[in-house]
Amino acid sequence: MVLAELGGRITHAIHQMRNVTIIDEKALNERLNEITRALLQSDVSFSLVKEMQTNIKKIVSLQDLAAGHNKRRIIEQAIFGELCKMLDPGKPAFAPKKAKPSVVMFVGLQGAGKTTTCTKYAYYHQKKGYKPALVCADTFRAGAFDQLKQNATKANIPFYGSYTESDPVKIAVEGVDRFEKENCDLIIVDTSGRHKQEASLFEEMRQVAEATKPDLVIFVMDSSIGQAAFDQAQAFKQSVAVGAVIITKMDGHAKGGGALSAVAATKSPVIFIGTGEHMDQFEVFDVKPFVNRLLGMGDLSGLVDKLQEVVPKDQQAEFLEKISKGYFSMRMMYDQYQSFLNSGPLNQLYSMLPGVSAQMMPEGESEAKIKRYMTMMDSMTNEELDSSNPSKAFNESRIMRIARESGKIVREVMEMLEEYKRMAKTFSNMKGLKMLKNGDKSSN
Ligand code: GDP
Repeated sequence: MVLAELGGRITHAIHQMRNVTIIDEKALNERLNEITRALLQSDVSFSLVKEMQTNIKKIVSLQDLAAGHNKRRIIEQAIFGELCKMLDPGKPAFAPKKAKPSVVMFVGLQGAGKTTTCTKYAYYHQKKGYKPALVCADTFRAGAFDQLKQNATKANIPFYGSYTESDPVKIAVEGVDRFEKENCDLIIVDTSGRHKQEASLFEEMRQVAEATKPDLVIFVMDSSIGQAAFDQAQAFKQSVAVGAVIITKMDGHAKGGGALSAVAATKSPVIFIGTGEHMDQFEVFDVKPFVNRLLGMGDLSGLVDKLQEVVPKDQQAEFLEKISKGYFSMRMMYDQYQSFLNSGPLNQLYSMLPGVSAQMMPEGESEAKIKRYMTMMDSMTNEELDSSNPSKAFNESRIMRIARESGKIVREVMEMLEEYKRMAKTFSNMKGLKMLKNGDKSSN
């Protein structure tokens, strides 16, 4: 959620640049400072931000750019490229192969969401045709085996663990052996966490890794840990060969910048993000679409998939048609706010549209403001809510009526209408956006 805010602020800085007539060193520095502030406030580690700033300045050497070069475009591309670079360590994570047993070990602090994520990971692969199995080598936390067992049973995934054995290494080895014999091709080992990083945890992790020789070690990190992300991720990396990261609880109010720091600390890619407690609230993480969405540049490939998930089948065509005509009504704004307040799926859908993520929140965003706007919209007629031409629909007497009925003052109604216009303008840019059938997408 708060990542959208980070994206909004970076996009704002980029837009500001479009408004200044001359892009000189001063204008560039001002915008870079704004972006730096936004990143730091989102818990991206200081050294990373500093590095990014230096790199952008190196790429955008204003003196070297001949007249006629589109400086704004070059700066935008440099920012996009640097954000991608932060999230992309340059080498893909190990991908398990079907019909050939792979061992994947999960590590992370207690409460990070390790056990939940193990099952999500297994479930995801099961749907892709793998034969996963779960091994509970967490003998430290009482109830860990029961939790894993419960999750595994729900997803119909074989599991192994013990109520009596206290040696995690023994359980891990037995579990892996058993599932290899049963021809499972993805054997997932859940290990113990601790409340904090401590030597005994790291020693145990090392022993389990040595005994089971995992093909991949996945570090699970709670997105809300903030600036501690870099050090925590690095500490794990120093003990075991972390090869991928999964960030959990991205649905909450975490600032999410820690994800960028974890990648830098482990030099391993984020492969999935957790977006809720349920088994299927789990998304593949791709750098470019993610940064595109962060910067409000849209993710058309994700959009079509998401559309099929969240919009009822009989309404999909209509939705796409509206979007591609640049149509945006008050009702669409209302639905979007509602979905935003409930962290609903529509919110994710809209954030995939080019230019939208940064525009979704009223400036100086706050939930109270959204709720105020919604109260005013509750006093509108259907005609007003569905009009795509508000300057016509909202004359003086209507504005006064809405203010009176919603118990607000006229200035507030005007402010809400301005907000609507701002969002409608973004949607008007979508005009001509083409989305072909069969998941094939293009824009012009
Ligand atoms: P572990 O101690 O690392 O194994 O953590 P658990 O798997 O027991 O998870 C701790 C808590 O976080 C549980 O209440 C989970 O339901 C919750 N949780 C895990 N992943 C997510 C996520 O992506 N979103 C949300 N909202 N909750 C999550």
